[in-house]
Amino acid sequence: MSKKQSPYRLYLTEDQMPKQYYNLRADMKELPEPMLNPVTKKEATLEDLLPVFCKELAKQELDNKTRYFDIPREVQEMYRIYRPSPLVRAYNLEKYLDTPAKIYYKFEGNNTSGSHKLNSAIAQVYYAKQEGIKHLTTETGAGQWGTALSEACSYFGIPLSVYMVKGSYEQKPFRKDIMRTFGAEVIASPSNTTDVGRKILKTHPNTTGSLGCAISEAVERAVTTPNSKYVLGSVLNQVLLHQSIIGLECETAFKILEDYPDIIIGCAGGGSNLGGLIAPFMRDKIKGIHNPRIVAVEPASCPSLTRGKYTYDYCDTGKMTPLAKMYTLGCDFIPSPNHAGGLRYHGMSPIISKLYHDGYMEAVSAKQNDVFKAAILFAQKETIFPAPESSHAIKVAIDEALKCKETGEEKTILFGLTGTGYFDMTAYASYLDNTMTDYIPTDEELNNYFPNI
Ligand SMILES: *Cc1c(COP(=O)(O)O)cnc(C)c1O
Repeated sequence: MSKKQSPYRLYLTEDQMPKQYYNLRADMKELPEPMLNPVTKKEATLEDLLPVFCKELAKQELDNKTRYFDIPREVQEMYRIYRPSPLVRAYNLEKYLDTPAKIYYKFEGNNTSGSHKLNSAIAQVYYAKQEGIKHLTTETGAGQWGTALSEACSYFGIPLSVYMVKGSYEQKPFRKDIMRTFGAEVIASPSNTTDVGRKILKTHPNTTGSLGCAISEAVERAVTTPNSKYVLGSVLNQVLLHQSIIGLECETAFKILEDYPDIIIGCAGGGSNLGGLIAPFMRDKIKGIHNPRIVAVEPASCPSLTRGKYTYDYCDTGKMTPLAKMYTLGCDFIPSPNHAGGLRYHGMSPIISKLYHDGYMEAVSAKQNDVFKAAILFAQKETIFPAPESSHAIKVAIDEALKCKETGEEKTILFGLTGTGYFDMTAYASYLDNTMTDYIPTDEELNNYFPNI
């Protein structure tokens, strides 16, 4: 335990920033099951991945051995524009809760995308550029990934087409306009720019679209456009690798503080911020050097870890991506409208799934009214306006701090504050107007979607 007084905000110097990504797979006692080719159902090879991913990213995806990957100089340079992100001590929240616990959060919202997603977007676009890719496509539901990728594409000069679920496109026009500001083409999905889109429009002319449909359109556009690739912002091993920068910065910061977290908490949608945040701490846990509790928090409306099945499933609703062994609700599962758009994913990173399955971490689910209550308390005490996704971690950090108050334990709590919620005002308004509901799927409903592959 540290006797040092920690500063409100600890920023590393440029020299202290990580120069390499850390690949947790290299230190796992048992590896996640391999991805399978969706057609042959055999272990996916590099050749299987190359039509979808650029070469370096496909290599990172399959590499379970290389412990460190150099962060390319150009990527480090762009990181320096908005990193290091601060490790903040939540003194005001601690005081309000009257807890002996020390609460720290790593704040990733200090860039226009308002989330950690830029960390991986920059790396992915950089490698695409190196390999001569001339165009990228992706889909976006909530909008943070599309915005992050637009920022990275505009920095490296690669045209980007974003398929945005039509419902969000119409309800959240500002998100579309931010992406356009960074030069991206934003298309409401389903659209008449692809065969899949045209087919859907013919049968369902008034549909508001779905993430699955947007993915299918983005993939079709990439495979039918010369020198174009489709990119994904979560779930994949390569994305967790890039996000390790979050955890590595935290590790150095805690060394400076002469402290070590007892509890590490992160929200989990596809598992990328959590996987990045915990990477070096999980390594210490696996090696028996430290034994922090590690907690994933997911929405009660989309409970893949706490109520899903550990099995092979498609990563996308379009069933075009490789199969991954993960905790999943089934790729056809459509969560009830929930305001944490970034946590509405049916599956979970295979790395996180494996660690959870093997007992290295815990998972809890939170109801959205409880989450927004915590979000508003946090905003009022710490003045940062949190994203609904991040607020899942806030909620559980507060719960843990209150437990410390009961037991008198001076634990060190670290949670990931993944982003800001400026574009989620409808969600906040619904909470403030008391119209927010807490829909939790029944076992019967969940049973309808579990994969059978
Ligand atoms: C996308 C997003 C998440 C969830 O994604 P993960 O891959 O699980 O990290 C969490 N918070 C914010 C702000 C996001 O934009």
